[in-house]
Amino acid sequence: MDRVYNFSAGPSMLPLEALERAGKEITNYQGSGMSVMEMSHRSKVFQKIFDDTQAKFRRALKVPEGYKVLFLQGGASTQFSAVPLNLIGRTGKADYAVTGNFAKLAWKEAQKYGEISVAATSEDQNHTYIPAQDQLKLDPRASYFYYCANNTIYGTEWQYVPETGEVPLVCDMSSNILSRPVDVSKYGLIFAGAQKNMAPAGLTVVIVREDLAGHELPYTPLMLGYKTMIDKDSMYNTPPCWCIYMLGLTLDWLESQGGVEGMEKIKHGKAKLLYDVLDDSRLFTCAAQPGSRSDMNVTFRSVSEELDAKFVAEATAAGFTNLKGHRNVGGMRASIYNAMPVEGVEKLAEFIKKFDKEN
Ligand SMILES: *Cc1c(COP(=O)(O)O)cnc(C)c1O
Repeated sequence: MDRVYNFSAGPSMLPLEALERAGKEITNYQGSGMSVMEMSHRSKVFQKIFDDTQAKFRRALKVPEGYKVLFLQGGASTQFSAVPLNLIGRTGKADYAVTGNFAKLAWKEAQKYGEISVAATSEDQNHTYIPAQDQLKLDPRASYFYYCANNTIYGTEWQYVPETGEVPLVCDMSSNILSRPVDVSKYGLIFAGAQKNMAPAGLTVVIVREDLAGHELPYTPLMLGYKTMIDKDSMYNTPPCWCIYMLGLTLDWLESQGGVEGMEKIKHGKAKLLYDVLDDSRLFTCAAQPGSRSDMNVTFRSVSEELDAKFVAEATAAGFTNLKGHRNVGGMRASIYNAMPVEGVEKLAEFIKKFDKEN
C-alpha cells in the first residue's frame, strides 16, 4: 500500500521530509557510528541535538526570556496532575473551563489537590461551543485559570485568549500547538503532548514561567516537580531522546514552511475548505457551532449511523484513513494537523462532495 492520507486524531501524520531524514540517519547519525536511539543522553552528540531542538522550538513560538521549555515524558495527561501539584499552593484554589473530554479529566484530577471551580462549561450543549469571555466566572483568588485550547474530540477551538487579570493562564495545547502564533507572555504555563503536531508519542513539552516553579505541594513526586526538571534542564533522568530528535526534524520542516505564521495561513484554508463543503452538502452537518469550530479537528456526521459507516468504509478504501469519530461524539472526525498536506484535504473535500451526490 502507498502512504495514505491519515486523518488520525493522534498519533497522527508527521512531515514526510522529517520521516525520510530520520530513515536516512537511523543507523548512523551524522557519522557518529550509532543511531540516536542508541546514544547516551549525556553524550556531546545528543546534547547538541537537544540544544538545537530547544533553540528551534523557542524560535518557532518566540518563547520570551523568563520562560523555560521542558522536554518531559508522561504524556499530556501527566500534566493534569503536575499542574495542580506545582501551581495550586499559592491560594489552594483554581478555576477550570470544562469544554471537552481532556479539560474534564484535568478538572477531575485537580480536585484531589485543592478547591476547584468550574469557571465555564459547555456540557449543556454537548461541548459544541466555546464559552465567551463574559460567560467565564473568574475568581481573582484562583492560583491559575486552566483551559484546553483545542478540544480534539469535540472539534472546538478557543478563538480568543481568556482575560484573567493577575491570575496566570494554564493551557493544554496538545492538539493545536505550532499551528498558529501564540503570545507566550500571556501564559503562566503551556503544555502539549507531542503526538498530534510535533513528534512521536513519548514527549511532552512544557513551557513554564520560571517564577511559578518551586512552589509545589510538599508531597509532589520528585519527577513531577517543574523545579526538578528546570534545575536539570529536563535531564534529571533520561529524556525521550528519540522524540526530541524527531521534534527537531519537524521544526526544521516547519521553518521551511514559514514557521507558525506560515502554518496559520495554511491550516485555516484547509479547515475552511472542509467546513464549506460540509455546510453546502445535503447529507452532512458539522458538530461544532460556527465561531467555535476547530481548524485541527473537523467533526461532522451524515443523516444516519448506517450512512456514517458507509462513508468511513468507502473513504478508507479510497485512501483516507481514520475518519471515524470518537465514541463521545459519533459520526466522523477529520484531524488535519500541520503535517496533513493541503492536497489530502482537497481530495477529501472532493470525496465528500461525490459521496453527497451519490447517496
Ligand atoms: C491527546 C490529548 C491529550 C492526552 O494526551 P496524552 O499524551 O495521551 O496523555 C490531552 N489533551 C489534549 C487536548 C489532547 O488532544
